[in-house]
Amino acid sequence: MVQIIIGKEIAQTIKDEMRAEVAQLKELGKKCCLAVIQVGNDPASSVYVSNKKKACEYIGIESLSYELPEETTQEELLALIDKLNNEAGVHGILCQLPLPKHIHEKIILNRIAPEKDVDGFHPQNVGALVVGDFGFVSCTPAGIIELLKRSNVEIEGKHCVVIGRSNIVGKPMALLMLRENATVTICHSKTQNLKEICKQADILIVAVGRPLFVTSEFVKEGAVVIDVGIHRDENNKLCGDVDFMDVEPLVSAITPVPGGVGPMTICMLMKNCLEAMKYYS
Ligand code: NAP
Repeated sequence: MVQIIIGKEIAQTIKDEMRAEVAQLKELGKKCCLAVIQVGNDPASSVYVSNKKKACEYIGIESLSYELPEETTQEELLALIDKLNNEAGVHGILCQLPLPKHIHEKIILNRIAPEKDVDGFHPQNVGALVVGDFGFVSCTPAGIIELLKRSNVEIEGKHCVVIGRSNIVGKPMALLMLRENATVTICHSKTQNLKEICKQADILIVAVGRPLFVTSEFVKEGAVVIDVGIHRDENNKLCGDVDFMDVEPLVSAITPVPGGVGPMTICMLMKNCLEAMKYYS
């Protein structure tokens, strides 16, 4: 029978575990705090920021909110990050992307102290992942590892194919699967024979950013398929990078959209924040 990997339920379990841990830490006088910065009022960003604050509230992590106007200068944003970097009571700093065009994303993200970089985007944390040191890992790929482990999917020795090589999803995903002793192939827009390569995968992770891109022609019988994509179709319904209806009859396990990978991302952000407090303060 096909295993539908319900990220929503797994994320809830992890949030409840963290909630209990945060309550215990509070009894010891330890409080965890995340600073959330949003520049401008992009509606999608506002939804993400609001969901992150709600998750903080549920778990018991304090959230400090900085809602800055669209015309905020790069220097003003850097000054805020410097201030938060130096505040001992702030354990994590999150700057919601995308930033307005006049602000250089890379300059901002690189300014966040690596020990407060709970998004795992700072080159020092990315480098730590490459060499196998402790560091914060980008939340979506970290969430997928949790999904696989908590669903008892064996990773070691399996052939994992990742479609996508973005810095936020594809690359860290491939590195994490390598760390778990999978044999990893990374595919991208210049890959030749994509379908044939994907058809060899025991675990196929799809972060291509194209709705319903992966059909049954890409999938080996019995494979595990993880769908990172999130889109709205022509009927305004959420869908993923994988054609779920077409692929599901073939697989041994699959994540749905919505309710699969998505809920894990915020959950891992909270986990990173808690780690930041335990590890660095
Ligand atoms: P991205 O930066 O656009 O990267 C897409 C990757 O797919 C690129 O590496 C690109 O290759 C590759 N690609 C594009 N067309 C291809 C093709 N025809 N054949 C093979 N490879 C192709 O996207 P992303 O930020 O990684 O996100 C991927 C998806 O995940 C999006 O739908 C996004 O909305 C979703 N997402 C979801 C969450 C969540 O929490 N659920 C979090 C992050 C992202 P090149 O490098 O050669 O251009």
